[in-house]
This record gives sequence, structure tokens and C-alpha cells, in this order.
Amino acid sequence: MSILNNEFRSEFPVLDQLVYGKRLAYLDSAATTLKPKAVIDSINHYYSKGTANVHRGIYFLSDEATNKFELTRQKMTKFINAKTYKEVIFTTGTTNSVNLVAQTYVRSFLKEGDEILLSQMEHHSNIVPWQLVAEEKKLKIKVIPINEKGELLVDEYKKLFTEKTKFVSVTYVSNALGTINPVKELIRIAHDHNAKIFIDAAQAMTHFKVDVQDLDCDFLGFSGHKMFGPTGIGILYGKESLLEMMPPYQGGGEMIDTVTFEKTTFNDLPHKFEAGTPPIASVIALGEAVSFIEKVTHAKIHEIETELLQYATSELSKIDGLRLIGTAAKKTSVCSFYLRDIHPHDVAALTDKEGIAIRTGHHCAQPLMKFFGVPATARASLAFYNDKADIDQLITSLHKVIKLFG
Ligand code: PLP
Repeated sequence: MSILNNEFRSEFPVLDQLVYGKRLAYLDSAATTLKPKAVIDSINHYYSKGTANVHRGIYFLSDEATNKFELTRQKMTKFINAKTYKEVIFTTGTTNSVNLVAQTYVRSFLKEGDEILLSQMEHHSNIVPWQLVAEEKKLKIKVIPINEKGELLVDEYKKLFTEKTKFVSVTYVSNALGTINPVKELIRIAHDHNAKIFIDAAQAMTHFKVDVQDLDCDFLGFSGHKMFGPTGIGILYGKESLLEMMPPYQGGGEMIDTVTFEKTTFNDLPHKFEAGTPPIASVIALGEAVSFIEKVTHAKIHEIETELLQYATSELSKIDGLRLIGTAAKKTSVCSFYLRDIHPHDVAALTDKEGIAIRTGHHCAQPLMKFFGVPATARASLAFYNDKADIDQLITSLHKVIKLFG
């Protein structure tokens, strides 16, 4: 059983330490994943040996930085199977990718009275940007309902479409529940109704292969730090034809072709959407994260995470009075739970002292918490570098919490 003796743990230096004198059980990968040595080394190399700005210099270091920077775009193009590198825009993360599309595509092409569909399980990042533009443009937001297991109701989704529905944005995987949504079907249905669709893939990239051509999504966004890469870097994928017709998001250097005080013309894709000096070290290191995932393989990740999820679910279910929140038939390795009537913050404060990193709160999904009638949950989210000992450490600690609260 690979979760007994996980060969990948040693690739992640963070795991090689004690917290409060205890073995670190990092169970918060849905918030941010740990970084493998290759990613850390890449950042270190850029700042210690390779510092230069990109696209602007003709000297050695600038050339090298530019090549490595654009290599990440090529790797990413292949990784998500985009048709061309022009469809891969560097952003600062999922949130930024959503805001970009809201403030360019939706702001420019939707009219008063048009409708946007979002689901009950969205992260605030996939709610608020649409609300901001909806308020300004007088658009209507409608919500796709879910069931008690945390699964999206596809039949209800179909019923929400009217001739005014022009845009849909849904998450591929729920950060709070782990639910994997049937996005290919959701995309087909949106297109049957002539609506464009954005897929929030923040929680998808680490777990399985995402193929934008197979999905046929119009836009897709994700964050580097949730796929073993650095913070501050993310991707917006968009179909070339749509990106071409969209106005720029932010103005500045790099995104222009010519500038006079009378008129500015804009750079070609993808640079039209990349104003200013980008986070160069982070982009280059994101390329290392992609190579790392490819080396480990999605098949291996799936195998380990399936075992971890089964074991964690079965052990948590044995605890009297523990309510698992999010029991979809198809889910990633996320276990959200509520323990008796103990506030999740108390649970996490006590497990923390045992060296366990779990997240508590509304997980930036307040409408979802409202649906389940809880103010917050405790969430253990597992990645392929976790092992059985991490889960056992959590279970032992939860029993101590119960004892303490009587
Ligand atoms: N969407 C989902 C499903 C997420 O889980 C997150 C982060 O937790 C985001 C969007 C926002 O990602 P970021 O904060 O990296 O922009």
C-alpha cells in the first residue's frame, strides 16, 4: 500500500521538520500545496544567478530569463492541451483570472437584463467578481442548486436557462466539499444555449488531467500555488477567438504595440493581457511544477489520493458524532467535517498543537455553509505526499478533542 510508505514525501522539504516538537501532518493542500525541491531550487536560481527582466533585454541573462519564462507558457499550453500558446495568459491566480474575464468579456459583451449562472458551491472568487460587474451592468445572477451530498443538480441547471442566459461560471472541483462537477456536460449544455462558460479549475489541476480542448470550455482559470508552484502566479486559458475580441484588462508596459498621446495600439496575444513586469521567478518555477507533475504522473497521483480518501473517510466515519460534509459520488481527497457541537475553530486549535495543519472556517464559500446549515467546517485536504500516518495522527487527535470537550 503506497500510503504506508510514501516515496514522495522526501521531495517536499517542508515536511522535514517538527511542529511543537511533533511530526508535521500537513492536511491543508486545498488551501495551498507544498512545493517540491525542484520548484524551490528554480526560484533560488533565478534570484541568485539568473535575475533579469524578460522580453526587453538583448543581453545573456535577459535572454535566458525570457526563454525560461516562455518555456513555461509552452509547457502549460501542452499541459492543458490549449490549441496555441496565445491562449495561455499569465495572471496572478484564479481570482485574477475570474476578474479579468468579468471586467473584459462580460463587461463588454453582456447587456442589461442578461443572466449569469453560478452554482451554490462556488468559492467567493467565483461569485464576487461577477457580482461587481452585474451590479454595474444590471445583469442578473441565478444560482444552480445542489443536493445534500454536495452534488450539482444538472436537471435544475438546464431549467435555469432562458434566452437571456449569456454566461455560466462553475467550479470544476469544490474546495470545501471535494465534489467533482460534470463540467464537460455543463459546458455542452451552456453551448446548446449559446452561453459562454468559465471553469474555475483552482482545485482540479493537482488531481487529474485537465484538457481544455476536450472540455471545450471558453475560459478556464487556476492558481500555480495549488499545483505545487509558487504563489502570485496563475493562468487564464481562453479560446483565441474570444481573447482576440476582448479589450485589454489593464494598461501598462508589455501589453502595447505603439503608444502616442493620441492613440495606443495593443500587443498580440497573449501579451495584450499581461501588463507590466510579471512575477518572473514564479512563472519559471511554475514550469518546474508542471514538469514535476508530469514526472510523478496523474495516474500515480490518482492512485495515492484514492487510497488516502478511502482510508480517511472510513476512519473519520467511525468517530461518533462526526458529520462529513460533502459526500458526492465523485470527489477529490477533501474531508470536510463537523464534530459534534464543537466549533471547528476549537477543533483546529487543539489539533494544531499536535502538529496537524487542517483548515477551519467557511472556506470562502459562505453560501455553501448556509446551505449545509453550519457556520464553518474543519477540512482535511490530502495530496499525494500525504500518508497513512498523517490520517492516523488526525484521528488520534480528534479523539483527544472529544475527550477534552466531554
Ligand atoms: N476557486 C477555488 C475553487 C478555490 O479553492 C480558490 C482558492 O482556494 C480560488 C478559486 C481562489 O484562488 P486564489 O486565491 O489562488 O486566486
